[in-house]
Amino acid sequence: MDKMNVNPFFVILGLVLVFLLFRKFRTSIFYKFHGKLDEMDVRLNLLTESIEEKKKVLDRLPHRCRKISFLFNISQQLIELYDPDEVFKLLISGLKNLFPGAANILLFTLRKKTDSLILESSFKGKDAVIEEKQGDILDKWVLKHNHSLLVKELKSDFRFDYNKVIPFIKRGMASFIASPLSLGEKVIGVVRAESRELAAFSMEDLRILRSICDLGAVVLERANLFKRTQELAIKDSLTGLFLKNYFFERLDEEINRAHTKGADIGLLMVDIDDFKKINDTYGHVVGDLVLKKLTKVLREVIGNAGNVISRFGGEEFVIFFVECNRGRLLSIAEQIRCLTQEAVITFRRRRVRFTVSLGVSFYPQDARDGIELVDKADKRLYKAKAEGKNRVCFS
Ligand code: GH3
Ligand code: MG
Ligand code: MG
Repeated sequence: MDKMNVNPFFVILGLVLVFLLFRKFRTSIFYKFHGKLDEMDVRLNLLTESIEEKKKVLDRLPHRCRKISFLFNISQQLIELYDPDEVFKLLISGLKNLFPGAANILLFTLRKKTDSLILESSFKGKDAVIEEKQGDILDKWVLKHNHSLLVKELKSDFRFDYNKVIPFIKRGMASFIASPLSLGEKVIGVVRAESRELAAFSMEDLRILRSICDLGAVVLERANLFKRTQELAIKDSLTGLFLKNYFFERLDEEINRAHTKGADIGLLMVDIDDFKKINDTYGHVVGDLVLKKLTKVLREVIGNAGNVISRFGGEEFVIFFVECNRGRLLSIAEQIRCLTQEAVITFRRRRVRFTVSLGVSFYPQDARDGIELVDKADKRLYKAKAEGKNRVCFS
């Protein structure tokens, strides 16, 4: 077979053509897919971002769940309460759990008479001294605007002159969150939490605080109304002293206790002398002032220690004393008589004075039960009147 003669020129030409064709093909493939690659890149970036965001949401989820379950729990507990003090206590302890980073948590209520805030309950960090018992400019802002407030950095918040913000100056607080306790337009208090850390509270914290405060305000208002209704049932509106029924209930309880313990109970019956004459001479307004003055004297002398003062009716008052010996009770009775005699009421530049007579009785020496004990004191009071008034009778 003849050897085939291949012209090298054609070989080179062929190779060049193949090379050129390959380049063209490569470039067209490159251009064809390059756009797609860019598109994929953008999509990949978007997907990565969205995954990161979702991861953040997922990371926060346990925290959110904790807050929602906290909200649920505190709501359940709040609606069970009928005592304002317990509502304060629960709100403070709940918020302490919700904001573990808070250095102090304060709860103020609004006093209608003076239109001022008053510190009702608080959680105080170690060594914290709360001087602003009536709130400071931040609380007053919340009160005035009936709006919750989040201050991430006290020093740079343009709304407040930080030189006037007490928590900032006195306690080195850096951030702050607060919410009104309000029922629609009516604000009844302010709750605030503060922290030494910058931006310790978030918008989400603010929303949760507001939800708790909204529920807290309703429960608090209900508790206040409940307390007021109970007081109206057992307290005299003029003097604020207990009424007869409640007095007997308490006296019976104390007599039972004294019976078990073998203790004594002392009882005083106090009656204003010639009260009708005071009314007739100066009018009923002065008569009412006299009743209030005597109430003040009784409260000052008697104090709280388990003793109960009652307005029995008209110008008659009864007081029982737990674990009180004869000598002490007689000295208290004499003190009431003297202080009343010295008391002066000034009305339209007229000075009005008055006196009282007192009857004293003791359990178990004088009586077996409450009714008998009061009856004995009443008889001795009658005797004091008969003997000339302004005196104490104890036998
Ligand atoms: P005595 O020294 O014997 O106790 O005489 P008295 O005048 O104090 O007693 P009397 O029972 O004759 O009069 C009591 C008066 O108290 C009659 C009544 O109008 C008056 N009174 C009862 N409740 C009130 C009240 O809430 N306010 C005023 N201003 N007067 C009252
Ligand atoms: Mg009288
Ligand atoms: Mg009387």
